[in-house]
Amino acid sequence: MPLYEFYCEKCKKEVSMTLTIGERERGEYKCPGCGSKKLQPLMGTFFSKTSRKS
Ligand SMILES: [Zn+2]
Repeated sequence: MPLYEFYCEKCKKEVSMTLTIGERERGEYKCPGCGSKKLQPLMGTFFSKTSRKS
């Protein structure tokens, strides 16, 4: 199961959790700390920043 990183707008901090692809696609995830669903995925932005270095 892949590990995903999110930024929780409620806790104002980064959280990481393991999700199945299906859970990720359907948005079936919430902050382990506060239970909020206001999570912003961090991985996508992180990778596009580092891999584009031409
Ligand atoms: Zn939270």
